Amino acid sequence: MELNHMQIKELLDEGRAHACDGVGADHICVKIAAIAELPSRFGQFHIVAFYNNKDGKEHVAIVRGDVTNTDNVPVRVHSECLTGDVLGSLRCDCRDQLETALRMIGGMDKGVLLYMRQEGRGIGLINKIRAYGLQEHGYDTVEANIALGFRDDERDYSVAAHMLNSLHIKSICLITNNPKKIDDLTKNGIKVNGRIPHVMQPNQYNRFYLETKALKSGHLMDLQGKEHLPEQADIPVIEGMNGEQINLISKIYQNYSRSGSRTR
Ligand SMILES: [Zn+2]
Ligand SMILES: [Zn+2]
Repeated sequence: MELNHMQIKELLDEGRAHACDGVGADHICVKIAAIAELPSRFGQFHIVAFYNNKDGKEHVAIVRGDVTNTDNVPVRVHSECLTGDVLGSLRCDCRDQLETALRMIGGMDKGVLLYMRQEGRGIGLINKIRAYGLQEHGYDTVEANIALGFRDDERDYSVAAHMLNSLHIKSICLITNNPKKIDDLTKNGIKVNGRIPHVMQPNQYNRFYLETKALKSGHLMDLQGKEHLPEQADIPVIEGMNGEQINLISKIYQNYSRSGSRTR
């Protein structure tokens, strides 16, 4: 069942009337401002656009089916990555992660993808490109991590939680490989009843993650020796990875997160 006209009208009326003190350190309040159908290559969706009272970032929810007043709604939280999502950059796996999630949700009766307009996990496009540039000019990942060190994931989750509440979702099953995201959403008042693993299909572009040798060097390197910095707060798990490979990649991701928070 899709969202019907009555429900859409109610959500829009509530959006117009909504007022709260905001969430997170920056007291951000997001209000549903526009809803439309979004037929896509991944299935039939509605797109819900949110007005943001603080920083002009217009987050959206891609909604499959009627998720209002519903328990255990499958939810994926994705951080915007212009270079990966739109331009098909191979410096990250954001597009694989996004497409896998949309395809998964598109095949379900109900589900939501929150598309957070927080380029490079909140550091902004310029800082992200700066980090890429530093790597090209021979700086090591420490330098690049300094450029990537402004990330503020907490805000992500408080705003994401607000969006789920605005949609009247009662409880969720989070599509993720990262248990920390479940904690973060729970801390922000969301009832997370389960986790759905986010397993990507192998393709010519993400194959480097499957190379044990590349993982064992301690960095995410592709076969040409180029480094990849994680932009999504999720461990990329690809069909065919064994337990050892998944453990290694988890460790590398933890290291990146730690160096990120140290320089904050
Ligand atoms: Zn609010
Ligand atoms: Zn990316």
